[in-house]
Amino acid sequence: MSSAHPALEALPPLMRTWARAALDPAVVPVEHRADCRACPMVGDESDAFHAEVRCCTYEPVLANFQVGAFFRAVDPRLERGRQRLAARIRERAGVTPLGIDRPPTYPLWRAADEERFGKDAELACGYLDASDEHARCTVHVARNAVCATWFCKHTRGAHGGRFWLALRAFLAAMEESLAHHCLRELGVGDEALLALALEKDRPFQHPPPALYAALWGERRFEEQRFYAECHELVEGLDGASALAVGGATVDRHRRALLAAVRALEPGPLPDLVVLGPRTASERRGDRIALRTYRDSDPIVLTTDELETVATCEGGPGAAAADALGEARLRVLLDHEVLVSAS
Ligand code: SF4
Ligand code: SF4
Repeated sequence: MSSAHPALEALPPLMRTWARAALDPAVVPVEHRADCRACPMVGDESDAFHAEVRCCTYEPVLANFQVGAFFRAVDPRLERGRQRLAARIRERAGVTPLGIDRPPTYPLWRAADEERFGKDAELACGYLDASDEHARCTVHVARNAVCATWFCKHTRGAHGGRFWLALRAFLAAMEESLAHHCLRELGVGDEALLALALEKDRPFQHPPPALYAALWGERRFEEQRFYAECHELVEGLDGASALAVGGATVDRHRRALLAAVRALEPGPLPDLVVLGPRTASERRGDRIALRTYRDSDPIVLTTDELETVATCEGGPGAAAADALGEARLRVLLDHEVLVSAS
């Protein structure tokens, strides 16, 4: 039996299986600074997130088998997600044999504005239940690759961010390939596939009745059962078989993921260090918050520490380690407050 690893256990069950097949679970960083039960992004700072929506100013696309997780059996813990997905199926918009897309009402143009991320309550995800502090995401058990891999802060700073981005790309490729695998294995016909191509050419609109009928064929009004069959099919694949379905595309992302894992290894200190490219700062009481590789993960220093960091500019990494302490220097390097000059 494989041993438990907290960061891996936090992924949805199917993703755990795929991740175990792709890498050593022990390398997955535990992102303890992104503590969703005491969200550090909620507060009085100018860049704080909206207290209710936080990072859920995003609307996921769910693959057919992810939707199906909620329609396999009557599990009361899945009831809130099941109700929301059933409502989406009744509305039909974005509901196809591939899964459930964003609803036409979702303001995509505003979601694309990074300044609004975490701050615009009107971008709240349709699967968010902000009234339940302990289970805010109603589709948590089958959330998608973006939701499963996004953290506001990373223990290893930019290296951690790159690892999770690579894992997201790998998992997203798995989602797409397995969703298509379900279409083939469950015998979705040529007319439905043509309707799917037409539907994808007019996203975020309500489908005309004839198009919806063509999309689903004799499975119309049996959408929930179809999605459940997709989940049963994908759940039955072991990790190696699931990765094999993805072929060359998934293999490309798996290899990139392994490169991101290697980059997590702490290397030697740089010969020379200079200040990083994002040097904007903001005063917070008697401290200074420095912008880093990511706006939601600033480094907060005392003015004395900031002066010491400034003296390291253009000097040897070894001297910076003497001045700051090696552990602190490595945090500053991980967050790209200081970077290698070479
Ligand atoms: S990941 Fe989202 S909910 Fe969790 S701590 Fe960060 S901003 Fe808050
Ligand atoms: S699916 Fe869940 S985790 Fe993802 S944005 Fe919606 S509520 Fe948040």
